[in-house]
Amino acid sequence: QAKNAGKNTVCFFDPALQEQIDHNLELSRGLRLALDYNQFFLEFQPQVDRKGALVGAEALIRWSHPELGLIPPNRFIPVAEETGLIIPIGDWVLRNACKQLQIWQTLSKAKHLTLSINVSSRQFAQSNFVEQIKACLNQYKIDPKRLELELTESMLVKDQNDVITKMLELSELGIQISLDDFGTGYSSLTYLKRMPIRQLKIDQSFVKDINMDLDSANLCDAIISLGHSLSLEVIAEGVETLDQFEYLAQRNCDLFQGYYFGKPSSADQLLKLIS
Ligand code: C2E
Ligand code: MG
Ligand code: MG
Ligand code: MG
Repeated sequence: QAKNAGKNTVCFFDPALQEQIDHNLELSRGLRLALDYNQFFLEFQPQVDRKGALVGAEALIRWSHPELGLIPPNRFIPVAEETGLIIPIGDWVLRNACKQLQIWQTLSKAKHLTLSINVSSRQFAQSNFVEQIKACLNQYKIDPKRLELELTESMLVKDQNDVITKMLELSELGIQISLDDFGTGYSSLTYLKRMPIRQLKIDQSFVKDINMDLDSANLCDAIISLGHSLSLEVIAEGVETLDQFEYLAQRNCDLFQGYYFGKPSSADQLLKLIS
């Protein structure tokens, strides 16, 4: 009876919050089974150069749930991170990305393609992360230059020495490191100089408003200049229109990814983009 509740009482039953918790529990139960039941699959989104030629793709995980249908990664990756299930899931992504790269290496028209995978912070923090990558590359006989790891800025500030050691080992192997969602995270830029990063990925929130909002356009310009002044490759994500592409290309952005060039799709669909 709320009426009788004094003004110092706390209302701790929040139905919306409870629903969220129940749903997360359901998701984490489902996630445990998803690997065994083969419910994950990868989609590949094209990355193109200034001429529009396909240079690579980003692998994006999909979960096809038997009752809930297709669940977006933004919904289940955080749950997987919380529960630790991101470790076996991340391993699955790496393995399947390597399988795909192995297939591409046998096709003359696809030999040159790179494949980026998203790495979560918990995955990167594992002490044997580099060994796992090495083992997978060896098993599938992959040219390490073809594999790119997408990290986010927030992962770089945690245990800097550990991060730098791992990055150096990875780049010695020949693996490329890309900074995803660049511009949305921590503003300290000193790590760009200290870490062997090869690519900056301009966050799609800046690209989205490029032709409508001067601040967004200026931010894109600044990221491209910053990247190039450090000899980094710059890729824009979330490019949806010709106007956005033309603006970025004119500013010398190196690579592009977004619905304008292709939505995430099957590997077969991706290869149709190569003439
Ligand atoms: P992200 O790595 O920044 O990936 C880009 C997201 O933007 C993808 O969403 C992609 O489908 C979407 N996108 C691409 N082009 C456009 C565009 O032109 N317009 C719009 N509006 N969106 C575009 P998706 O596949 O839903 O993935 C969301 C996030 O989930 C990813 O963001 C990434 O952080 C995470 N994620 C996806 N796959 C994996 C994975 O295998 N492992 C981990 N750890 N995280 C993943
Ligand atoms: Mg690339
Ligand atoms: Mg990404
Ligand atoms: Mg991103």
